[in-house]
Amino acid sequence: MTLRNTDQWPTGTMRAAAVVAPGVTEILELPVPPPAPGEVLIAPLRVGLCGTDLELLHGTASYVRDGRAPYPHVFGHEWVGRVVAPAPGRSGTDGRITVGDRVVGHTMISCGDCRACHRGRRNECARLREVGLYGQQGAAAQYLRMPARALSVVPDAVDDAAAALVEPAVTVLEGLDRVRCSPGERVLVIGTGTIGLLAVQLGRRLAGKVDVVGVDAAGLDGAHTMGAHRCFRPGEAPAGHYDVVVEASGAGAAFHEALRTTAVGGRIAAVGVAAEAVDAVHVGDLVLRGITVHGIRHGLDQYDRVLQLFADGALTATGMVAAVLPLDRVTDAFRLLQDPSRTAPKVALDPRAV
Ligand SMILES: [Zn+2]
Ligand SMILES: [Zn+2]
Repeated sequence: MTLRNTDQWPTGTMRAAAVVAPGVTEILELPVPPPAPGEVLIAPLRVGLCGTDLELLHGTASYVRDGRAPYPHVFGHEWVGRVVAPAPGRSGTDGRITVGDRVVGHTMISCGDCRACHRGRRNECARLREVGLYGQQGAAAQYLRMPARALSVVPDAVDDAAAALVEPAVTVLEGLDRVRCSPGERVLVIGTGTIGLLAVQLGRRLAGKVDVVGVDAAGLDGAHTMGAHRCFRPGEAPAGHYDVVVEASGAGAAFHEALRTTAVGGRIAAVGVAAEAVDAVHVGDLVLRGITVHGIRHGLDQYDRVLQLFADGALTATGMVAAVLPLDRVTDAFRLLQDPSRTAPKVALDPRAV
């Protein structure tokens, strides 16, 4: 579909990539989302895929199991796009977002009106929707409608590759903020996927040196390239050594590795979402060593800070992206995302190239 007048909201259908059954994706023709108050229309430029999308694909995500993400499910929560049509009844949008802006979207859309929202704790909102996860169409499509208040404008210095990494990076920054990661502290990152490698980058900036634990050679190579100080296989890192441990692998067993390696008084940021229960956690040991575990839900308030970190070069997309494939190669993209030998952790789709 060609959009001739930027103040007109396109109608008709669009192409979208969707999970239609467990393990099955299809390109569908779906209606362009209709205008809605306060919401703008966006043409996504790039959509990153991650482990959460794999869980949606395989039907193991909690959103699928509890019925919040019915089929067909248009995924895509890590994205950058361009605003192509304004909110109805206005020439611009909300004064902050304008047609033509390149933007990233906040995954969590809070209601603005519940107890948590009124207390300023938007990421604990009781009526959350999450773009591409539940309650809101994702960005793996030609068009996406978004509340203008849930967008951040991307500075020119941040290219599309970097902008599509902002969503995972906000959670990493939230995690390192919550554990108050400080200069000179000993930091260990467990996991060498996108979250792990972003944690290496940010951890180096905040603390200095960062060690890494990983299970595959390609991931450990990536960590080394990102400036990791020492790279270990599970069980090799020194016990009781680290002030800050970031669990970014999402493997249940990695939580034991986090507890084993954390120093007395240390803090663990649990970012990876382990699907399985973790057996035999010795709570008394955790208590006696004074370890604090933080579950990191999301970094809803960190988007603008992370954009600035990419603009300043403190964070980089270099070495992070294995491939960008056109939307209709979504099956290949998911296959590559599950290949541990890929050269970099992130696989992305380009919804313009169909
Ligand atoms: Zn993700
Ligand atoms: Zn709310």
